[in-house]
Amino acid sequence: MDTTNSKLKILALGGAEVNRNMHVYETEKDIIIVDCGIGFPDENMPGIDVIIPDISYLKDKKQKIRAIFLTHGHQDHWGSLVYLLPSLPKVPVYGTKLTIGLASTKSDQERMKIDYREVDYKTPITVGDFTVDYIHVNHSVPDSANLVIHTPVGVIYHGSDFKFDWTPVDEAPADVQKIARAGSEGVLLMLEDCLRVEKSGYTPSEQKVQETFDQQIQKCKGKFIVTTTASSISRIQQAVNVAIKYGRKVVFAGRSMEQNAEAAIRLGFLKLPIDQIVSVDNARSHASQDLLILVTGAFGQGNSALARMANGDHKIKITEGDFVTFSQDPIPGTETSVDNLINSLIKTGAEVFYSSILDDLHVSGHESADGLKLMLNLVRPKYVLPIGGDLRQIKQYQKMVKTMGYKDEQIIVPYEGQIVEVTNGKVVVSGKTEVKNIMVDGLGIGDVGTIVLRDRITMAEDGIVMVLLPYEKATGEMVGDIDIVSRGFVYMKESDELIGEAKEVVRKILADRGKEIHNMGYLKRVLAEELERFFFTSTRRRPLILPVVMEI
Ligand SMILES: [Zn+2]
Repeated sequence: MDTTNSKLKILALGGAEVNRNMHVYETEKDIIIVDCGIGFPDENMPGIDVIIPDISYLKDKKQKIRAIFLTHGHQDHWGSLVYLLPSLPKVPVYGTKLTIGLASTKSDQERMKIDYREVDYKTPITVGDFTVDYIHVNHSVPDSANLVIHTPVGVIYHGSDFKFDWTPVDEAPADVQKIARAGSEGVLLMLEDCLRVEKSGYTPSEQKVQETFDQQIQKCKGKFIVTTTASSISRIQQAVNVAIKYGRKVVFAGRSMEQNAEAAIRLGFLKLPIDQIVSVDNARSHASQDLLILVTGAFGQGNSALARMANGDHKIKITEGDFVTFSQDPIPGTETSVDNLINSLIKTGAEVFYSSILDDLHVSGHESADGLKLMLNLVRPKYVLPIGGDLRQIKQYQKMVKTMGYKDEQIIVPYEGQIVEVTNGKVVVSGKTEVKNIMVDGLGIGDVGTIVLRDRITMAEDGIVMVLLPYEKATGEMVGDIDIVSRGFVYMKESDELIGEAKEVVRKILADRGKEIHNMGYLKRVLAEELERFFFTSTRRRPLILPVVMEI
């Protein structure tokens, strides 16, 4: 193939940071997409369930899309399929057995038909200009892969989430021979998972956690409750192994935990005799010391099974003598929620264990600095592009690869909306496209903008004040008396004076300017501004002001 005029573009539609992984590889005539993940909201996004990638870039290129390739079974790599596939052409979605098993729990639940195609680690898949070869790596979910992508302009190594585990819990170690083979054939650019670059050395083996569970369960006289992410099948396996060893039955609590465990058992990735499992409904008929419970809520999610247990709102009650173990560290943005959940759990009388008070409760699924260097030496790419990290990890990665002899021009530093262009064996940054946070709040996709978020924050902090203005449609005049009601701002019964003064402010505006202002929208804005000023002067707070015109 004549590659002198060929060109490849690479973009991250989920932004440059940790989650919402979605990479586009685009040539003149074809596009493939690697991963299609969701992101999780931080505390500045109240009421938002998930954040999804922004696919506006693909709008007029849809006919070029040939396939989606999933790297592994974590939701931040496949969770957006159900949100985005309806607006994309019907293309095959490739992935390994467990990855597809986990992704289909969600699409089945949404009754969505997705053309999943299971891949093995032997047969490369060719679609249009691309040939994609899966390489087995270790991570916190089994059956994870890195991708070798053959393109008309050279070979790209897509090194998403990985670590090297020479003694993994339930699968083979990473296929270093195949990685090295790809490297010896010549890799132009490597995208590498940089999340844990700040830690020196190698990430320990996942197996370490089982020893901790084993020691803890021997001290536990009540229910042994473990929370972790529902896709961490290796972690779940270790808890299960300990349950079997000490003769405890296993309960899976929380929808995603139940669904993932069911899928992993069915596909042979979670080894657990069926008669060892007890349903949430039947848990009460067993003595506390005979149960090990695996539950969702490791990130402190307010509606999770663990949060409901902590607040006495679940069929399983947590009581004194129970152990609750967080076998997962908070991800950025979830620290406060996790702290709150730990506090509520302590109030139940249970013993609560988490990383800052007990070692080896969690082992990262991401490789540390020395492991990243090992990977680089196996793949030996001409150019590198760190992915999956925040700015500080990207900076650290830059420093690390420089110590290995990489020059500035060989290191592509990612940023939001960046377009990387590969031509004639050269990789450069060629431009930028706009990539927004698309927020899903359970009701709709992308209809929550910054204004809605700001309103939610204002309401949560300072409450809301509604001004009710009766208006006679026939005459176009304000009639009757105005009313002011509030929620979460001041206790109305004790604030007669304040509310009376506020009504006076409204009456004055209507008397002075009501005749001139014909536009209701404008009148509402004036009222809101004046009242905001008034309330701030008298209370130092800024409630959300909502003038409501009632036609009578
Ligand atoms: Zn992952």
